[in-house]
Amino acid sequence: KITIDEVTKRFGESDESIVAVDDVSLDINDGEFVVFVGPSGSGKSTLMRIVAGLETQSEGDIHIGEAVVNQLGPRARDIAMVFQNYALYPNMTVEENMSFGLKMSTDMSAAEIEETVTSTAEMMDIGNLLDNKPGELSGGQQQRVALGRAIVRDPNVFLMDEPLSNLDAKLRAEMRTEINRLQNDLDVTTLYVTHDQTEAMTMGDRLVILNYGELQQVGTPLECFYRPANQFVAGFLGSPS
Ligand code: ATP
Ligand code: MG
Repeated sequence: KITIDEVTKRFGESDESIVAVDDVSLDINDGEFVVFVGPSGSGKSTLMRIVAGLETQSEGDIHIGEAVVNQLGPRARDIAMVFQNYALYPNMTVEENMSFGLKMSTDMSAAEIEETVTSTAEMMDIGNLLDNKPGELSGGQQQRVALGRAIVRDPNVFLMDEPLSNLDAKLRAEMRTEINRLQNDLDVTTLYVTHDQTEAMTMGDRLVILNYGELQQVGTPLECFYRPANQFVAGFLGSPS
C-alpha cells in the first residue's frame, strides 16, 4: 500500500511561493491502478515526483507499505518510472537500454540479466529489436522498450506520467490495452497521469482529480463522471448536467 499523507509542496520563497501540491492525502492499495488527471499545472507531475523520491515534499509523509520513505532516494523505493520523454539512451542498443538498470543496481549474474531482458522483450513484442538502436525504432516500439526497461526491474510500483502522449491515436489505443494487460499480469501498483479523457475514463480502478494542487475528487471513473463532487469536476469531465 502507498499512503500519501497530508503532502504539500511549495516552490520558491515564502512571499511568492507556488503551492504545487496542497495538502493531498490518498491511500493506494496494492495492485490498484489509479489515474491522476487535472489541468496543466495542477500538480500531477510534482506529486508523482514526490512519490518517486525525485522531489522532496515541503510537508507530509509518503509511506510505502508500513514504512515512511521520506528519507529514501528513488532507487531504494523500488518504483519504476515511465515518463513522457522516455529518454532511451540513443547510443545503446535496445538490449543495453533494458539491461543497464539491472547491471547498476542488482547482483544478478550477466546470464540472469540476459535471460530476464530476453523474456521481457519477448513479452513486449520487441524481441527481434534487441540489437537495434532507439533511433531505428518507431515511436510505439520505443515506448514498448521504455516500458520493458521499467518492467525488467520487477518493481512493486509503476509510476507513469503521460507515457503515451506522443503516440498517434492507434498506437495509443494499443498501448492502453498493453499497459492494462501488464498491470494485471504483473500485479503491480500503478499511478498513471494522463491528459487523455479516454485513458482517464477507461484505464483505472480509481480516478484522482486535481486542481491547483488540491484534491477535488477520488472515486471510480463512473462515480466521478456521474456524481461529480463539485462544479470543477463536472466541467472538467464533461459530466451530464
Ligand atoms: P502538466 O499537465 O502541464 O504536466 P502538472 O499537473 O504536471 O501539469 P506540475 O508540473 O506538477 O503540473 O506543476 C505544478 C505547479 O508547480 C505549476 O505551477 C508549476 O509551474 C510549478 N512547478 C513545477 N515544478 C517546479 C519547479 N521545479 N520550480 C518551480 N515551480 C515548479
Ligand atoms: Mg505534468
